[in-house]
Amino acid sequence: MTVDDGRFAGARHVERLQPVEGRALEVKQGETLRIAQVEGGQCVDFNAFNLADYKEHMSVGHSRRMGISLEEGGVLFTNPPHFRPLLFIAHLPSSAKTDLIGARCHAALFERRLGFDWHTNCQDTIAEAIRQYDLTPDDVHDSFNIFMNTRIDPERGWVFEWNSATADDHIDLVACMDALCVPVVCGSGDVTMLSNAFLRPIDVAILPPTRDSMEFVDAANGFFATEAQARASEHRMPIKSARELARNPAYEPAFRRAPIGVVDLEVPLPAGYLERLEHEADRAGISVEDCARRLMLTWAQVNASTLPARPGVGGAAVDDELRARWERGHKGGM
Ligand SMILES: [Zn+2]
Repeated sequence: MTVDDGRFAGARHVERLQPVEGRALEVKQGETLRIAQVEGGQCVDFNAFNLADYKEHMSVGHSRRMGISLEEGGVLFTNPPHFRPLLFIAHLPSSAKTDLIGARCHAALFERRLGFDWHTNCQDTIAEAIRQYDLTPDDVHDSFNIFMNTRIDPERGWVFEWNSATADDHIDLVACMDALCVPVVCGSGDVTMLSNAFLRPIDVAILPPTRDSMEFVDAANGFFATEAQARASEHRMPIKSARELARNPAYEPAFRRAPIGVVDLEVPLPAGYLERLEHEADRAGISVEDCARRLMLTWAQVNASTLPARPGVGGAAVDDELRARWERGHKGGM
């Protein structure tokens, strides 16, 4: 279906997804996937894969290190061992919330909680959308929830709020690599607050690369580049096809750096420090050695950054923004 909306001028693809549909869309590096409200208040579940290797896909768990709700400027990462920037949130108004806790709704949940023999749900909608690329229900992964208004309540835990997204709201996701992106209309709409107790359409569009988007892609890929990513691609293994697990009799353990080596280090301490350390250890009920390690790591967590300096990568402003977010993530989540 074509959509007549000024927000999609210049797009190479535009379509309206009716309740309860989803679509697998190829979004090339530097292109922007725009997901837009039509009437407002509709929650969208989202999966994404590396187009060149479906085993590398969005990891909501690792992206969550930057917060349980991402805002404009946030980055979605792929699963380790890759851990590469997959999508960058280039636009998200404050009325549109996101959630990285709800993994996705599924039929078993609605059957057990509400007694439905089958209710529309995101597991099945995503599975149907990715079937176009011969992916299976097993390949559906935890969802990045867009236009989903949740919060952590000290007493009640994870709670749903009325969906605050307006009809004018949209999110822009810039692809840092060629990606298969899968937005779906969340099927929980009529039985939860997440989509304001109804099911509504959403619009999706793919916009061509711009100078800004390409600059960000270069900056992000440079900034987050690691040796581990290169090794992950080099050591890619064939994909196992049998479902049952059977022990491989030829297996020989080959853990790296195991067993670990322990080296005694002499640490010169200022006068009176050992007594304080012994007192602290006694109070905490741990050994003096553990106490010294705990103090050192507590200090390091607050004061030391493990970030390598990467001068000259991309635009300075983008680099600063990334560095600030990344440092916050490290201090909060390590
Ligand atoms: Zn859902």
